[in-house]
Amino acid sequence: MTNAPSQRSRDSVDQDQFLAILSREEALARFEAALFPRATPAEERPLMDALGYPLARDIVADIDVPPFDRSNVDGFAVRSADLACAGEATPVRLVLNDEVIACGTAPTRPVLSGTATSIATGGPLPRGADAVVMVEHTHPVGARAIDIRRAASPGQFVSYAGSDIARGEAVLRAGTVIGSREIGMCAACGIAKVSVVRRPRVAVISTGDELVQPGLPLRPAAIYDTNGAIVSAAISENGVEAVFLGAIADDEEALEAAMRGALETSDMLVLSGGTSKGAGDVSHRIIARLGKPGIIAHGVALKPGKPLCLAVCDGKPVVILPGFPTSAMFTFHDMIVPVLRRMAGLPPRSDAKVMARVPVRIASELGRTEFVMVSLVGGADGLIAYPSGKGSGAITSFAQADGFLKIDALADQMRAGTEAEVTLFTPHVRVPDVVIVGSHCTGLDLVTAQLAQSGIAVRSIAVGSLGGLAAAKRGECDFAPIHLLDEKTGTYNTPFLADGLELVPGWRRMQGIVFRQGDARFEGLSALDAVRAALADPACIMVNRNQGAGTRILIDRLVGEARPDGYWNQPKSHNAVAAAIAQHRADWGMTIAPVAQAAGLGFIPLAEEHYDFALVTARKNRPAVQAFLRALASEESRDALERAGFRPA
Ligand code: AMP
Ligand code: MG
Repeated sequence: MTNAPSQRSRDSVDQDQFLAILSREEALARFEAALFPRATPAEERPLMDALGYPLARDIVADIDVPPFDRSNVDGFAVRSADLACAGEATPVRLVLNDEVIACGTAPTRPVLSGTATSIATGGPLPRGADAVVMVEHTHPVGARAIDIRRAASPGQFVSYAGSDIARGEAVLRAGTVIGSREIGMCAACGIAKVSVVRRPRVAVISTGDELVQPGLPLRPAAIYDTNGAIVSAAISENGVEAVFLGAIADDEEALEAAMRGALETSDMLVLSGGTSKGAGDVSHRIIARLGKPGIIAHGVALKPGKPLCLAVCDGKPVVILPGFPTSAMFTFHDMIVPVLRRMAGLPPRSDAKVMARVPVRIASELGRTEFVMVSLVGGADGLIAYPSGKGSGAITSFAQADGFLKIDALADQMRAGTEAEVTLFTPHVRVPDVVIVGSHCTGLDLVTAQLAQSGIAVRSIAVGSLGGLAAAKRGECDFAPIHLLDEKTGTYNTPFLADGLELVPGWRRMQGIVFRQGDARFEGLSALDAVRAALADPACIMVNRNQGAGTRILIDRLVGEARPDGYWNQPKSHNAVAAAIAQHRADWGMTIAPVAQAAGLGFIPLAEEHYDFALVTARKNRPAVQAFLRALASEESRDALERAGFRPA
């Protein structure tokens, strides 16, 4: 760190006045008031490069379209008065003029009374003619005349000059976003260049000592920079130019230089990270030095997204998104996109919305507008919205959700059964064909891979075995994958089935003690001896599992009353156990063989666990459910499961 302590404390005092948390609406209103109204700079662009830009000015036609009276059909240009008496019994004979008016050919001879001129679709009407007769309605008489047996009204099959677009007409209004149809209008008027709102340039900077760009190796304790990529893409998705400047370490001097550089060459700056009060968090202090009026809101009553910081520096918006990717994306879409689009002259985003029933209670923090991401599945009477609750640090909760619902700041929960409005991330809902709700297993992906290949959309929602069973009983899914040991009978899964559910055997997963290969404390021992040795060694740290996990039941049986060091470290997944041991944070734990194998760890088998599927019988005959059952039974998935260390049942 390079800044002197005195400097830092003065800035923190300045900063504190902004720490009042604003409501979402108040923060947005203040931000917009500091930025608008503002001039939207325009630029000329060739028509072909103007797609997606809003027009800066009205487009006024300076020609008529069509430029001349034009035939709409292949036929003959005539004087309608000549055909006034034509009928089935009284054909009128017209002599053909010595001319054929093709498209692009200017006529040279007039149509005098009693004559007609052959004309193609799109040909200009010759002098004297006021109507066109379709070739199908004429009868040739030699090569020089035709008979016509029906009358023609004046103007029949003629498009008059300027009937499509009249010279002087404003064909497109300022603000219209140019799509292919607008390009067509301009092309018809002969316009090759249009004046559009210049696309704002938005600089994107990630901050944090821990960030590594994708493609480079991950050092210990580092993570990949997710926000840089996702924020840049979201800016482009909104029709604005993003310039990603990389990740800058939490170094005040380096960050200030990067931010100043970015503001010199861009119209807006979006940073992420560094908004919390951590020791290395400096960006909000720098903003105060970058221009007036500076910080407008630091702290917004949003969840996720509280640490959002909004600022304006000499007319340019500077935004610091929260570091967690999901928080960053929510605040970006909710608070930044409206401003960004307005700066770009674009209309507000029109998000598609649907109504869906929430099957479980969602707790919410009073006083903060809360956004909850949901996965949609089709229920018996309408859509069901499952909250995908992995927390704001989880990128998957954003990427795998279909949309989100909003819980008002004044509510402390959303009750189970509520019909809620869901804002979709995509223009349309695609309800999955097969819905799997329950315990997740990496083996599941090996089965569903086949379905994906045949275009069947599978949605798997991980809520644990008991949550899955409850969903299956409510008829909200097709399958609930479960691995529940009944202590009394010592059997897996069957004792937990309710009426309307049947068991489809899945596979067996070997549970066992996991440790680092070569650790002499465990190598070569039986599971029981290994645990005994570990409990006897006070330097040995374990990693446990969460209450309610099938694995936890096995661990508790082994350790009994003992509470060894690490017992209270209770992660929720097999992978977390493996990671803790591989990274030397713990020495032993319990996981399934495929996970130990994938992490390169030593493994002592203990007991086989049954991972089966509770099938909702009422849904059994659905084609997609049948396809899942076929995939589960196929040689292909059985081989894949075996290769990954599972034993198909
Ligand atoms: P911060 O606001 O800098 O304290 O960051 C909060 C959390 O978000 C920390 O866990 C950071 O590692 C994480 N984070 C910050 N920036 C990024 C990023 N660009 N990509 C992924 N995670 C990030
Ligand atoms: Mg940080």
